[in-house]
Amino acid sequence: MTRASTLLAPPHLDGDLKTLCLPAIREQWPRLTEEAQRRRQTHAEYLAELMHLEVTHRREARIARRIKEARFPVLKTLESFDFAAQPAVAKEEVLELARGDFLAEHRNVVLIGGVGTGKTHLASALALCCCQREKRVRFTSAADLANQLLEAKQQGRLSRRLEQLARLDLVVLDELGYVPFDAVGAELLFNFIAKVYEQRSLIVTTNLPFARWSEVFRDPTAAAAVIDRIVHHATILKTDGESYRLKDAQRQRPRRRANEEKT
Ligand code: ADP
Ligand code: MG
Repeated sequence: MTRASTLLAPPHLDGDLKTLCLPAIREQWPRLTEEAQRRRQTHAEYLAELMHLEVTHRREARIARRIKEARFPVLKTLESFDFAAQPAVAKEEVLELARGDFLAEHRNVVLIGGVGTGKTHLASALALCCCQREKRVRFTSAADLANQLLEAKQQGRLSRRLEQLARLDLVVLDELGYVPFDAVGAELLFNFIAKVYEQRSLIVTTNLPFARWSEVFRDPTAAAAVIDRIVHHATILKTDGESYRLKDAQRQRPRRRANEEKT
């Protein structure tokens, strides 16, 4: 406790701040009070500072909650993406998407490219930007989502699960095409995509060009219907080149060897 709080704490204040759920003000008012006296702030200025403190705190807490709820396997950022190493993807286009307007327009993003070319990194980083705009996001692999839906169906709560998912602003479907679905899985995933079509946004990452999506959905008609819905309002980003992991390892190797020679 600071000097101000022990000297000046009016009765009831602490309890009232607790009752009103104003934790940031509760914690920081002594400091702000001292500062207000020192800076000869008007009452209105002081009040505005207190309110702003709480509003900022709530916003940060909400963003942290959104990030947690998104269940990112690892946090990736656009700042850590080396656009020079992936010239097939236009940086401006990604930065434009990062503003998050695609969510309001219920547009999708499809990242297509080979293994290790940065699809998951870009998808996670864009989704993180959406969390920072306080949007509701869920990151999942396509296979996991199909399994979850299957489980929900078996438990007789498929429509509830689909409703829950449709409340999200953005779902990242990672690794579509790595594992082909069985007939039920394909149908469930199709149900999900049909449900969110033009209502919500998807970011899909895949190693398969559209022409091969019938392998995933087991049926050219189903694949065409999925492509039609996802691609109808979508930004397609194609990643190119060899695996970044591989390049990174090759870059590290001479350095490591040099270090070994030093020791
Ligand atoms: P993909 O999903 O296309 O298989 P990832 O996005 O998982 O590839 O990338 C593999 C690894 O390489 C990740 O650790 C990722 O952060 C990193 N990576 C890939 N491309 C880049 C890049 N252009 N800049 C920085 N890191 C990258
Ligand atoms: Mg990936």
